[in-house]
Amino acid sequence: MRKGFLVLAVVVVVALACLAGVTAFRYWKTDYAYHTPPTASFVISFDDRNITDWYQARDLFRKYNVHATFFLTQPDSLIAKELQMLKELEADGHEIACHGYTHSNSLTYTKEHGIASYIAYEIIPAIREMHARGFAPVTFAYPYGANSRVIDRELLKYFFLLRGDSWKVKGKGIHELDRIFYSFDGDRVINSLGIDAGSGVTLTDIEDGFRRAHKNKEAILIYAQSINNSNEPYSIAPSTLENIFRVAKKYELASLTFKDLVL
Ligand SMILES: [Zn+2]
Repeated sequence: MRKGFLVLAVVVVVALACLAGVTAFRYWKTDYAYHTPPTASFVISFDDRNITDWYQARDLFRKYNVHATFFLTQPDSLIAKELQMLKELEADGHEIACHGYTHSNSLTYTKEHGIASYIAYEIIPAIREMHARGFAPVTFAYPYGANSRVIDRELLKYFFLLRGDSWKVKGKGIHELDRIFYSFDGDRVINSLGIDAGSGVTLTDIEDGFRRAHKNKEAILIYAQSINNSNEPYSIAPSTLENIFRVAKKYELASLTFKDLVL
């Protein structure tokens, strides 16, 4: 009798825990509608964990009234100082979003361990650790831009928007890369153009894309990683960023974060 009760209690606790796990992190609703009207805009994001660099560009963002999205990975490893910097960035109007728990490649991970394991070990802990630190991520950027339709479908139960990536194509203008333009049509998987020092994207290329965004009332999506003068492949110089912000002004592009696109 006592043993039976114990088993029942364990079953109830496990069932409640599962239910809490599912409901706590499920943002998508079937009656969800996208309200943001088409806006000539640019969406700039920065990935990984380059928090000090991002923070040091704070005045630059402020000067041009730019609101960036910071896709954070390994949220469990934040030290107090980094947490404080992220909080200040968020208070400035920037979005703190999700870039996975360990920055694993979703395609290689799911091939080896399956999608349920990917959600359990890469997605839910990332969201949980961010919530524990006072952030409520609603958008996600795939590490390495690695995604598939099957993974997208699963992740859209946890996030409003998913971001893949895109790179400059030889012989093609940036304005021809349809996949980096969002036309406010409710698409929930969107792509961003890498503009780091190693990307080969020039200011002229960016102007080419900004012109199209202005003309068509679209959002153009661009992203980088760290912000410094190292000239390393995955970094962008503050002066380059400033030039980009000036061109955005010239084409009267609003600065939107990822969640601004849909909320
Ligand atoms: Zn990354």
